[in-house]
Amino acid sequence: MKIRFGDLFTFLLILFILGGCTTQRPFRPGHPVRVSPLSGAVSGNTIRHHDLTLHLDLSSGTVQVEDEMVISVTTAEVNFHLHKGMKIEEIAFQGKRIKHRVVETDKGETSRVTVLLPGESPGKIAHVVIRYRGSFPQIDFSDGRHRGTEVGGYINKDAALLLSNAHWYPDIPEQTSLMTYDLRVYAPAGQEVISAGERIPPGEVGSGKEYTLFRMRHPTDEINLVTGEFHVKKREVGEIALFTFFTEDDPELEEIYLSALQDHLGQYQKRFGPYPYKAMLVVATPLMEGLGFPGFTLIGERLLRIPNLPQTSLGHELLHNWFGNGVYVDIDQGNWSEGLVTYLVDYRFSVAQRGAAAARRSLLEDYSIYTRSGREPSLTEFRARESPEQMAVGYDKGAFIFEMLERRLGKDRFDQALRQLTRDRMFKKASWKDLQSAFEAAAGESLDPFFRQWVYGVGAPSLRIEDARLSPSAREVVLTLTSEPAFRYDVPIEIKTDRETIITIVSLKESSQTVTLKAPSAIETVTVDPEYTLLRKFLPEELPMTIASVLETEDDLSVLFSKALNEEERGRYEDFLKSYGIKYHQIERIAEGDGPTLIMGPPPETGSIGGWSPQEVPWKWGGTALTIGKVTVAGGKETAVFAWRGPKGVDQPVVWIVGYSLDGLQSLARRLGYFSASSYLLLREGKRPVRGEWRSNERPLHIAFREGRSGTGEGSRAD
Ligand SMILES: [Zn+2]
Repeated sequence: MKIRFGDLFTFLLILFILGGCTTQRPFRPGHPVRVSPLSGAVSGNTIRHHDLTLHLDLSSGTVQVEDEMVISVTTAEVNFHLHKGMKIEEIAFQGKRIKHRVVETDKGETSRVTVLLPGESPGKIAHVVIRYRGSFPQIDFSDGRHRGTEVGGYINKDAALLLSNAHWYPDIPEQTSLMTYDLRVYAPAGQEVISAGERIPPGEVGSGKEYTLFRMRHPTDEINLVTGEFHVKKREVGEIALFTFFTEDDPELEEIYLSALQDHLGQYQKRFGPYPYKAMLVVATPLMEGLGFPGFTLIGERLLRIPNLPQTSLGHELLHNWFGNGVYVDIDQGNWSEGLVTYLVDYRFSVAQRGAAAARRSLLEDYSIYTRSGREPSLTEFRARESPEQMAVGYDKGAFIFEMLERRLGKDRFDQALRQLTRDRMFKKASWKDLQSAFEAAAGESLDPFFRQWVYGVGAPSLRIEDARLSPSAREVVLTLTSEPAFRYDVPIEIKTDRETIITIVSLKESSQTVTLKAPSAIETVTVDPEYTLLRKFLPEELPMTIASVLETEDDLSVLFSKALNEEERGRYEDFLKSYGIKYHQIERIAEGDGPTLIMGPPPETGSIGGWSPQEVPWKWGGTALTIGKVTVAGGKETAVFAWRGPKGVDQPVVWIVGYSLDGLQSLARRLGYFSASSYLLLREGKRPVRGEWRSNERPLHIAFREGRSGTGEGSRAD
């Protein structure tokens, strides 16, 4: 299973800050991932094993392949798919050439190849040999237009990549069972070759022998291959060999990666059982993303120096060798591996950086932001990161589920369940049901209500304080809480008096429930869910205003053009709207805006625009210059974008775009997608972009009866 970095958004964000890259409009980038079903059920013909010999010619961009397939035959007609560019020279059965038919499929890059085996074949194992040759395109990565894997494969003059979705080897698309393979690669001198599976002599690294042989004897679902000229560094840790395959000789960077791998490996083996492969390779590629495979990971060479990457994404990909690429995901039952690995690596890193409550808050915030419009899937419907909603459920909600489980079971029993899973299900598929069984065995109790509500069910509740009454003595408070929809869960409620802090756990079952809480002295504040331990949807007023809250909606936007714009300037903004694919209707006054509203252009010097003069705002107009924090944009190619609440409050998110030139606005249109989770963005010439997030001052689950020490808002925060 090919697994993409969970943290790609952050990657690209930082990458962009480092050097700039081009983009279309994906808000949390991520192309559809081909996910193969991994069910063990056998139905139809299946390829059990490939014995592949591949000759790679970089100068002509061609491959020449012979594949002896071991097929478990159920029907004499065998149909498999192969890339359209591959020309079949021969197909043979038991040493004799057999006829085949090639039909181009109506979708995708593949042809369907049909062969008819002898009538007595069904029920037997057949060895079918296919010989073919063909070419894959070159890709020029220097212009930054290609992230790479959208094409699946390329053969350049100095390197090649053949991913399974390039269809460079025959496969049966309906096949649900796993396979094994031997892959023998003849590559030009100087090329190192990498694939999953054990590297067998004479294919030792740097051996200079004429071919490299990989033997993948653990069941797997795809075959991937990468070659290039690399500086190889190896470190042995017990029986396991760790490697870096970098394009430049960089001992310092190699040391950082090998040490991080060694640290992660030690921790994960202790917690989750033995590492399931013999090696782990970190391979640099020109791709602008990271991909995880059994026993190796590809990382874009321009991403390698991103701070914290060895601690976060590298650990994430390594851990997928236990969960995802070791214990496989029964994809029809939902992909549990992203939530689990995100929890164990990325969330844990976030806790170390900013504390548990803030880390949980961040998961809930992302989950709430990206699922606030439209229907979201349940965790059992999540397959891969194909949309922001999918990602919010599979990664953020999924991670939160495991956080709740670990809090309930305690670390020892939580780890015990995961060890049992790797012991029982390694190289087999596992579903959420299998995870439930493992956690129940460790917990010694049924977790059925928990799994039914949070995993198999859809969504999460929104919690609100509908009413709060303090008794005349101030020692008793009657709270009415509403939960939409009704979930059953325990809510911690914190009461602060002038002397003490009291936490009470209240079980909520109904959509509206009234509770009475008492304290020995005068109550000053009440806070529901003070540590963000509940999986819930934030109320709109709890969420920060972000650029996405206007530009990411599918709504027909209300757009107001500043009166300060002349005709030519206004045309540039209209072009921006067009290039961004925004549907809109024009308004003259902010008050006419209905829902998400977009303001285009600097305001007149009065600061009032469309009849609206925002007060107490964290930005400043000075003539035509805009200042946020200590940063000012004032002309040329500079641009600024920021989100705020319009006069109608949370029901009217407003995004304001200020630019001065065609170049500036065009550059903004290309780059804005990567910053949509921010509240503001300033792009200046030749300097780092400045972005930040306003925190919502509103805490609807916090009530201050008397102004106590706890304070109220958090103010704005910039970074
Ligand atoms: Zn992942």
